[in-house]
Amino acid sequence: MPTVALVLAAGRGERLGHPLPKGFVPLAGRPLLWHALAAMEAVAEIDRVVPVIPAGALGRYRTAIAGAPGLRKLAEPVVGGRERQDSLRAGVAALPPGTTLVAVHDAARPCVRPDAVRRVIAAARAEGAAILAVPVRDTIKRVVAGLVVETPPRAECWAAQTPQVFRVEILRAALAKAEAEGLLGTDDAQLVEALGVAVRVVPGDADNLKITGPEDLAQAEWLLLGAARGGHE
Ligand code: C5P
Repeated sequence: MPTVALVLAAGRGERLGHPLPKGFVPLAGRPLLWHALAAMEAVAEIDRVVPVIPAGALGRYRTAIAGAPGLRKLAEPVVGGRERQDSLRAGVAALPPGTTLVAVHDAARPCVRPDAVRRVIAAARAEGAAILAVPVRDTIKRVVAGLVVETPPRAECWAAQTPQVFRVEILRAALAKAEAEGLLGTDDAQLVEALGVAVRVVPGDADNLKITGPEDLAQAEWLLLGAARGGHE
């Protein structure tokens, strides 16, 4: 039952304020994308890892990633698109034949723990669709034009992370429906929800942080170096 990880790294990462595309920014001695790929590689249930990279980054990818040691499950890179969903679509179109389960992961989350990835894969295998998420600590406000329009009950609010794992036919149907209806999701599960398919929430780890601004790099480096010393798992 082949399970494939799609690692999305085709964003520009403008909020990071770095001259390199985000996936190639150095982090604990390796490009950020390498860490996300290595985290997927470390999960025995994942058979293949497909990176989705920015247009024009192939040369940089070949030197910085493809030649790096420790990535035996790596497939040929796929070129992403303008929006995250375009990159997802390109990745799904390039899945190896026979793929049954797809784990979509943001390259921007290099600190994900292999154990959490295993849990969310097991849930998706059993139920069709599952995501990692953590309960929010803050009260969430829905704000339109500077005014609060809604306060959802905090106990029901979770922050979605990746990987988000789906049976391939569910993800393909969700992408087709989103395309037909002009829905642009900020995560993959949103498209699956729009299909009416239940998405299981698997509690993740607070340190599966998403690298967004420069301050996140120092925290991720600290976490990754701690993991290398045996602090992770
Ligand atoms: O833009 P956002 O913060 O949601 O990006 C999440 C992940 O999606 C990042 O790893 C980024 O590289 C990827 N992405 C992509 N293609 C885009 C935009 C974002 O692969 N066009």
